[in-house]
Amino acid sequence: MSEFTMDCHVTVLPPLPFGKGYTYCVPSNLRLVVGDFVTIPLGAQEVLGVVWNTKPDKVQPEKLRYIKTKFDVSPLPEVSRRFIEWVSNYNMVPKGAVLKMVISVPAALMPPKPLTVYSISKKLPVFRITSPRERVLGILEDDAPRTLKNIMREAGVGHSVIRGLLKAGVLVKLEHTPPPAFKNPDWRAKGPVLSEEQATIASELCDQVERATFAATVLEGVPGSGKTEVYLESICRALKYGKQALVLLPEIALSAQWLQRFEDRFGCAPALWHSDLTVVQRSTAWRAIASGEAKVIVGARSALFLPFTNLGVIIIDEEHDSSFKQEEGVIYNARDMAVVRANIGKIPIVLVSATPSLESIFNVRRGQYNHFKLTHRHAGALMPKVSVIDMRNEEVKSGNWLSPPLLDSLRQTFELEEQAMLYLNRRGYAPLTLCRTCGFRLQCSHCSTWLVEHRLLGRLQCHHCGYSARIPRECPECGSEDSLTACGPGVERIAEEVAGIFPDVSSRVITSDTVNGPTQAANLVCQMEAREIDLLIGTQMISKGYHFPYLTLVGVVDADLGLAGGDLRASERTYQLLYQVSGRAGRAARPGRVIVQTYMPDHPVIQAIGIGDREQFLSAEAFDREAGGMPPFGQLVGIIVSSKDEEAVERAVRSLNRFAPRDDNIKILGPAEAPLKLLRGRHRRRFLLKSGKNQNLQRKIRYWLSVAQVPRNVRVNVDIDPYSFL
Ligand SMILES: [Zn+2]
Ligand SMILES: [Zn+2]
Repeated sequence: MSEFTMDCHVTVLPPLPFGKGYTYCVPSNLRLVVGDFVTIPLGAQEVLGVVWNTKPDKVQPEKLRYIKTKFDVSPLPEVSRRFIEWVSNYNMVPKGAVLKMVISVPAALMPPKPLTVYSISKKLPVFRITSPRERVLGILEDDAPRTLKNIMREAGVGHSVIRGLLKAGVLVKLEHTPPPAFKNPDWRAKGPVLSEEQATIASELCDQVERATFAATVLEGVPGSGKTEVYLESICRALKYGKQALVLLPEIALSAQWLQRFEDRFGCAPALWHSDLTVVQRSTAWRAIASGEAKVIVGARSALFLPFTNLGVIIIDEEHDSSFKQEEGVIYNARDMAVVRANIGKIPIVLVSATPSLESIFNVRRGQYNHFKLTHRHAGALMPKVSVIDMRNEEVKSGNWLSPPLLDSLRQTFELEEQAMLYLNRRGYAPLTLCRTCGFRLQCSHCSTWLVEHRLLGRLQCHHCGYSARIPRECPECGSEDSLTACGPGVERIAEEVAGIFPDVSSRVITSDTVNGPTQAANLVCQMEAREIDLLIGTQMISKGYHFPYLTLVGVVDADLGLAGGDLRASERTYQLLYQVSGRAGRAARPGRVIVQTYMPDHPVIQAIGIGDREQFLSAEAFDREAGGMPPFGQLVGIIVSSKDEEAVERAVRSLNRFAPRDDNIKILGPAEAPLKLLRGRHRRRFLLKSGKNQNLQRKIRYWLSVAQVPRNVRVNVDIDPYSFL
């Protein structure tokens, strides 16, 4: 690798949202290589940066400034740098913004503080012995130095005792490098006995790891078919060759059961990466990943940007999950970017799902991805029996939502002392609060949405901006007292209905409001396993990966909910969710049942769930998308123009419209008001661009945005292959 020495000009990229590379001069005391982490003066500040391999721009000599310092860490690997370039280009975001995701914890660049420990001096002076002092010497007799905190705890003494012993020269202070933060998962540990079907696929995946070339594989299997055991084998093979493995999970904070399985298999926990970690935990993990010490990393989508030194395989579990799409800041799809990362790093990637996305199926059909399928449920457990309830024929009291057949099934389940789950993808008590006198609807003042009542908190909340207010006694519009009425159900309201009918049943509401961290998730799992809970009532959070042997009934309260929005993936997403939720029922010896309540029993999604015909549903869905030229058959790009200043948005939109690409191969929809025309106080307009697969839309959009006049206070966000159409 070429080295830059005194007076060389180099490009340095700072990890800033609008960051691009700037030219700097190397000072006499530094020798640098591409990828080195440095500090540079930028304006009046000193900021972090990475030496980049692009040719430095010419700068007038008097404006040229020197790099200040270099961090004592290994340079950012070439694969990471190429990945940053690719993500930046494809998603149309500045390189600095992507680099910021790579260096999300700048503290990690500082060397870890040495650990101060104490041991008994080799040359013991004469000193006064007391009983606390004796206890301290007693525990240090084994020659293992300990930290102050540990001595105090083990000997049951205060700080002053140790200070006294130090002063008397009985104890000495030493500095230790902290022990490794992560244990090595044991690849020699014996794995579970795999079925013949599992073993065949596992061996294929292991071969891919050994070949160390790019390969993308869809691993499909019904819930409970043992997909995890299969891909853990490919991780095992990567470990055998000293390589790292990355597993992306959609809800990492809630993956207690998954983590337990990993530990059972490999004898220790993997390194974790998610937003609930403290800065210290993140720094430790980042350093261990960069140095190659951490072997298996399990994380949320942002883990993809960690600076792996020797990555050997990537696993995307629940690859169809829409939470892999990041909608804030840098907009990207972690599943798709992971495939790119695997390609650049020349390693295999496994996309795991019971209901693979249409995108992945499409790539299988085009011959781009491999496809392996697990068809048997583990230990002979059967897929649950699904009954569709046509709510148009059911008598349900006003203000109630559970039909007689569902209530009967619940009663039978509780009588057998089994567990049940009610699924409704709506947090809170009611999605809308209305005045009975004047018809006024309580709306968020920062967004064009209704406020959701959370009765447990006694508050109204906006689920888009987080605005929250007390529930008013009187209507803000007409002033009538006690005329505000909750409309429609949320999970809290279902819990209320159930409590009225089954007063002795112990139920628990599971949403991001009630379970929002690893500890709570682990507690929930414990209580379910100990059968302290009879009934779970929850949002899509309960659809993910849980395995409860006594859970035999799943009730879908409103199967039509996800279909209403009518966006591109509404049907597919609803199908996946319903299928996933259904899969929670009857995962062990006891057979499961699923009851689906709907007002649209003829809808293709409900039909497919009812008769269990996924193939039929997929071909119909693919046919519709292909006919409409929609992804994955065509390209779609969303452009959101927003500002707090509505007039400025209008001006920007007019200019964008004037310079819009005139091209027969590109169809432009809009400008139109976005469905959420007001979001967090910003006014929003939207363009949608549609084209065939063969167009380089990014290049055309880049040119378009560079010629249009956009006022400074207006933001233009490009969303490649949008998932949200709000
Ligand atoms: Zn009113
Ligand atoms: Zn709001």
